[in-house]
Amino acid sequence: MIIGVPKEIKNNENRVALTPAGAAEMKNHGHQVYIQATAGEGSGFDDAEYIAAGAQILPTIEAVYNIAEMIIKVKEPIASEYELIQKDQLLFTYFHFASSQPLTHAMIERQAICLAYETVEKTDRSLPLLVPMSEVAGRMAIQQGAKYLEKPLKGRGILLGGVPGVPPAKVLVLGGGIVGTQAAKMAAGLGAQVTIMDVSLARLRYLDDVMPANVTTIMSNQYNIRKAITDSDLVVGAVLIPGAKAPHLITRDMLKLMRPGTVVVDVAVDQGGCIETCTPTTHENPTFIIDDIVHYCVANMPGAVPYTSTLALTNATLPYALQLANKGWKKACAENEELKKGLNIANGKILYKGVAQAWNLPF
Ligand code: NAD
Repeated sequence: MIIGVPKEIKNNENRVALTPAGAAEMKNHGHQVYIQATAGEGSGFDDAEYIAAGAQILPTIEAVYNIAEMIIKVKEPIASEYELIQKDQLLFTYFHFASSQPLTHAMIERQAICLAYETVEKTDRSLPLLVPMSEVAGRMAIQQGAKYLEKPLKGRGILLGGVPGVPPAKVLVLGGGIVGTQAAKMAAGLGAQVTIMDVSLARLRYLDDVMPANVTTIMSNQYNIRKAITDSDLVVGAVLIPGAKAPHLITRDMLKLMRPGTVVVDVAVDQGGCIETCTPTTHENPTFIIDDIVHYCVANMPGAVPYTSTLALTNATLPYALQLANKGWKKACAENEELKKGLNIANGKILYKGVAQAWNLPF
């Protein structure tokens, strides 16, 4: 198959959908790989590395879309890319159709085959192509939290791990899923005193088994949250209710229960946030302060670490991309239920219920 990898053009998107290692793997399976010039630059891969891996470099995005049977991308196509997409061209990328009606209509009109990373689903209902980005965001939450706890950045001026003779900081993690687990692990590794709250007793049991001794698990409810935030230095928001907005576990009036300079990192901000006062921020301007509480609410945290994020994402996407390239999308989806769940639009029809429901379109 002929594979095309365009350079991402969304603002501040430095990830690339295929690494030189991935290109070499595709090549070994007999596929031709075309990479747009400098597509890997933001993630630390130059064109020469792709050439050495057996790929060819094309100068423009138009050239990539013109030649490729399968386009592998990171972010959904933006308006300027719509007209480049060919009929029956397979696009394997994040789409998030339910949040963009114009994109949904454009892909139906272009008659593209849209396989969305975010809906590829395993039999245990986990989403293998979302997990890596949650892992990155969870680990990064502590790195950012530690930074903004510093006094010059308006934090309380406390070191997460303390020092001998001085107690460590207290970190509260709301939600013990992928993001929360990675955040708790990082905070515990730095020596902080960590509390994870979740509504799932089964999850708390698991976390209690695997976490080190400086991590405590507590049932998530209003009473416990109100109590815990009074002496937490860093609060990480990491809850998810699939298909719904995040619940506001910390409401505006609760900020006054917290000590000035406390930092909240609301990773769940992309689903509305679990701290009421959180609204999405950017890497250029990541924080704001309300009632002396530092809010960090960047909606695309993995974008700040494109090297790690690209490798994490492509580790997960490549096995699926290979199946699509080796078998073609019809056979690959017929033989693999996980991939089939990723099919959102094909031949001008919506094949994913949630997308049809979002825009009141036939399914
Ligand atoms: P997950 O499904 O693995 O975990 C969510 C956890 O929240 C579950 O364990 C669930 O039991 C728990 N939960 C639900 N209601 C709760 C409540 N009331 N109190 C406490 N816990 C509760 O999800 P995840 O992959 O960890 O993702 C968490 C959030 O982070 C999502 O909103 C996701 O979109 C977001 N995210 C954001 C970024 C970013 O850059 N900002 C990156 C990746 C993921």
